[in-house]
This record gives sequence, structure tokens and C-alpha cells, in this order.
Amino acid sequence: MKQAMDQNLIDSLRNQPVAAQQLLIDGKLQFAQSGQQLPVVSPIDGKVFTSIALADASDVDLAVRAARKAFDSGRWSRMAPAERKKILHRIADKIEAHHAELAVLGVRDNGTEIAMAWKAEPGSAAATFRYYAECVDKINGEITPTPEGTLGLVHREPVGVVAAVVPWNFPLMIGSWKIAPALAAGNSVVLKPSEDASLSLLRLAQLCLDAGLPEGVLNVVTGSGAEAGDALSRHMDVDILTFTGSGPVGRRLLMASAQSNLKRVYLELGGKSPNIVFDDAPDLAHAAKVSAMGIYRNSGQVCVAGTRILVQRSVHEEFVDRLQKIATGLRIGDPLDVTTEIGAVSSARQLAKNLEAVETAVNEGARLRAGGQVLHPIQGGSYMAPTLFDAVTPQMTLAREEVFGPVLAVMPFETEAEALQLANDSVYGLASAVWTGSLSRAHRMVRSIKAGVVHVNTYGGADVTVPLGGMKQSGNGHDKSMHAIDKYQDLKTAWLQL
Ligand code: NAD
Repeated sequence: MKQAMDQNLIDSLRNQPVAAQQLLIDGKLQFAQSGQQLPVVSPIDGKVFTSIALADASDVDLAVRAARKAFDSGRWSRMAPAERKKILHRIADKIEAHHAELAVLGVRDNGTEIAMAWKAEPGSAAATFRYYAECVDKINGEITPTPEGTLGLVHREPVGVVAAVVPWNFPLMIGSWKIAPALAAGNSVVLKPSEDASLSLLRLAQLCLDAGLPEGVLNVVTGSGAEAGDALSRHMDVDILTFTGSGPVGRRLLMASAQSNLKRVYLELGGKSPNIVFDDAPDLAHAAKVSAMGIYRNSGQVCVAGTRILVQRSVHEEFVDRLQKIATGLRIGDPLDVTTEIGAVSSARQLAKNLEAVETAVNEGARLRAGGQVLHPIQGGSYMAPTLFDAVTPQMTLAREEVFGPVLAVMPFETEAEALQLANDSVYGLASAVWTGSLSRAHRMVRSIKAGVVHVNTYGGADVTVPLGGMKQSGNGHDKSMHAIDKYQDLKTAWLQL
């Protein structure tokens, strides 16, 4: 049964004690062999409220062995598809039954405003497991058109052991985008959550076991990227590494693959996504509201955030004024209050990075129109005012580098051709948007913008039915949709002489 968002329910969970967390290997909870734990600090108030196990290469090896053993046993990889489907649906049921618990735990860990986390975290995770549950028994092999006397068959097979390394923003949603299709395809998984947000994924893994997922099919190793993540990326018995995170780490993973067993590496990386507002946009007030939330929600910690707003000169002043009003009027505060519009920045470290980006933008001559400073709605927490710069030029750092914070760059343009040139002037190609009343222009822009998604007259919100993936340095491969299944399967040909 789905739970409705309710302040009393949230308040009853906000201070629940959380025991020291362990790794999940072969269906059993266990501390790291070294016994080391990492304190978990909540960005809501800067207080330590639990700890996670710090896995090293020896723990990672145990997890990969468990995943391989489960795969080879066939207890999941060769289970009848209709049975696998039932278990994936039961996982979705469990997520829905524990919706509030998962949402609150995640928010205590990473500070996302609950109104957003409620939908985007357990809400998306349950929808994702249901979607891939339904795929399991609907993906067929092929009989190819061969000459008389021969038969060509194409089988789809699970690949083996999938390592999934995920970031701290939307861990439950992004984790599920990887775990659910990998499991649906029949693989075993070793999951490495971010050291900054592991709790909701650890709980999800327990719920998977409770739902009947066989032991060893999903293992979780928590700990640092440099140690546990690196060990996974170099492991000789991991077949696929599926990653969401930053570009520099993505590069390391490609190198680790080349230096180990040439495992497949799928990368979902960062962006500097252009959001283009033409003067024929149907409703500028609406465009400003949606565009502002397209950057400021979750304190800008959204991979597809529209961080560069390009506005046609004739409506530029009006649009920036609207953005400024919205940015300065947002309710920033307790992430566990259902009326809060913007919660905490995920960590003090990320907050410091955001402030550095503000300083650089000011030094390079961008004009600060809103925010730029730290806020203190809760003592000890990490909060930042929604920040708006205009007069940003294409050479400025703010126009080129991802901040991953609530810092927006506005740039004017004159013509459609100039908008397109500015939009594509980036090493990234993750997301984008166009606001226009012209259907022809909308389609022209959809064809010409180099990005994995082009929104038209909206920003964000694309559901599990459509793929998400980057072009250029935003990555390769796609999460979500039926296309994600392809990443986790091998094609095998049978060629028969009849
Ligand atoms: P990050 O790259 O620092 O960390 C991501 C994960 O990689 C974490 O689990 C971390 O522990 C692990 N890691 C770090 N160093 C590693 C190493 N040497 N070897 C193996 N694993 C390692 O990213 P982050 O700060 O957690 O997340 C923010 C970044 O993620 C941003 O760049 C953002 O744009 C990107 N992101 C992209 C998408 C997308 O779908 N394209 C979605 C969300 C976030």
C-alpha cells in the first residue's frame, strides 16, 4: 500500500536511532574485516547519527565472490522469468510499504527537501522495480531471416556480475535505475553507494532479501571511492561496471577497466545543461518558475539541472527579474518539513565548493543578482541561498564547469542560431530545454541540440519509460527504459545447419 506524505509520520521517524551499519555480503550483514567504520554526519544539523562500514579490497573480493557464486548456482540467473518477475514486484511492494522510512532515512543522510525526496526516491525506486519486473517475461530472442537449410537464433543472456557505483544525490532512485534492470536481466550485483549517502540503499538491499531475492544476488559494500570503489573497478571477476558520478572518477574507471579485465564500463556523468528561453515562449511567468526549480531543487544537486539559462535579448531583463524574485522568495530550511522548498546542501565539503564557484564567478566579472551566501536555518547544518548570476559570458568558468550546487548562470542571445551555438558550446551533453510557442522551432532545436534529453516547455520530470544518458563527456549508455536492459545482457548466436 502506498503511503501519503504526512508531517506527523515524518516527525515520528526523524530522530529514530540508526544502528551502526554493516556490509551485506551473501545475504549476511557483516562488519568490514578491518572493523573500521565511518561516521555519518547529517547535513541537516551537522550531527553524527550513525556510521557505515569502511570496506577495503578484501571485503570487495568477498562480495564479488558471493555474487559470482550466486550467479553460477543459477538460483536467480536461471530462475523462471515469471518467478523473477514476482520477486521484483514484491520488492516494489516492500518499498511502497516502507516509503516514509526510506524517504526520511535518505533525507537525514543527504539533506534533500522531503517534498522532492518523497517522490524522487522511494516513489521512483518502486516505479523502477515495477517497470523492470514487467520487462522480465516480455523480452524475446530472435530468429533471423536466413537461407533455406540454415537457422540463425539470437539468445539474450545475463552477463554475470554487475558492479554498480552510485553518487549521493538521489541514491535510491539512481541505485534502482541500475539494480532493477541488472537483476531483471538475471545478473548478480555488487552495489557501492556513496560514502555520503549509503543508508537508504542498505535498507533497500534488506527489503530485497525480505521480498525473496536469493542470498548473494545483491551485495552491498559501503566505504570510500578510493578504496572500495577502486577495488571493484579493478576486480578481475566483475563483468560490468555501471557508474553514476563525476567525470574525473569516470575517467579513472575506464583506465581501471583497461588495466584489469576490460569489463564493460557505463558512465552517467555531469552536465552544464542549457535551458533556452525564446521570446515566443507561451507563458514567461511559468517558464521562469519551472526554470528556477530546474536548477534550485535539491540545492542544485541534480545531474540534469538547467544550470545555464540562455534568454532571448528582448525578454532578458524581464526574465531575470522574475528569476531573481523567485530565487529570493524560496523557503529554505528544515529538509524534513513538508513545506520546505529547498533543503540542505549534502555536505559541508560540497557547500565550500559551491562558495568557491561563487567567488570565481564574481572575480571573472559575472553579476550577482541573488544569493551567493551561506544560510543558517538550523544550527550546524549546510545551507546555501539560491544564487543567480547574469552577464555570464561563454568563456567564464561558470559557463563551462559544473558546480553541482544552487548556482545559476544567465546569458543573453539574439537569434536562434546563436542560442544553438551557445547551447552546444560545452564538453557536456546531458540535458537541455527549449521554451517556445513554435512547434517548428521546437523540433529544429530537438534535432540540433547535442544532449541526451531536450525538454520542450518544461524542465525535468521524465519518468522511467524514457532513457537517460549523456552525449559527449556526459557519458555513455542509458539508464531507464527498455534500452537499459541491453546494457546487462549478452547476445549469443546459434547458427544451425538443418
Ligand atoms: P563522485 O564521482 O565523487 O562519486 C560517485 C561514486 O563514485 C561514489 O560512490 C564514490 O564513492 C565513487 N568513487 C569515488 N572515487 C572513486 C574511485 N577512484 N574509484 C571508484 N569509485 C569511486 O560523484 P558524487 O560527488 O557522488 O556525485 C556528483 C556527480 O555525479 C556530479 O558530477 C553529477 O553531475 C553526477 N551525477 C550524474 C548523474 C547522471 O545520471 N548523469 C546523476 C547524478 C549525479
